[in-house]
Amino acid sequence: MHWGPDGDAIEQEAGLRRSAIRAAGGRDMTRGGVDTRGDIRGNGVARHAERFEPFRDYAFAELEAAPLHQAGVCFLPQCGRRFDPSVSWQMYCCKACERAGLTEFRKWGLRAAPALLAWRLGKYASDGPVADRTRSARRFVTAVQSAWIVDRADRAKDNQTKQGAENGRN
Ligand SMILES: [Zn+2]
Repeated sequence: MHWGPDGDAIEQEAGLRRSAIRAAGGRDMTRGGVDTRGDIRGNGVARHAERFEPFRDYAFAELEAAPLHQAGVCFLPQCGRRFDPSVSWQMYCCKACERAGLTEFRKWGLRAAPALLAWRLGKYASDGPVADRTRSARRFVTAVQSAWIVDRADRAKDNQTKQGAENGRN
């Protein structure tokens, strides 16, 4: 059971990776080399997009050391409920919040995607229209990141206001 934003489909693969990391004494031997499925990765880039691992697996050890979420507090800002996690990386309190979290990731991911691609396509352009497009893409990605953080903060604030009002009535 994961309750992460990427759904359950890759949980089995993630489990294999975590086992491999544990077997290597906590050192991640599946990154930047030949992984357990035999595809070669350079700089963490998978050769086949369909095999591309999610960030939570790519940075498993780092996220364990510095999680994105607060342990036992639902990562969905408009929920923020306290819960007993069944595993340390459980981010959401329930399936409904996990689904809402996935929708949130899809929404913001789709907004950023064209600019992420444009940024990488123009990585080596030093001047001209492609370099201009690349700068614009970088600025856009930064703007999307900031807007997402503000949106999350707003939803958390609305939720606290709502809970405060409910507590006031009780
Ligand atoms: Zn929740």
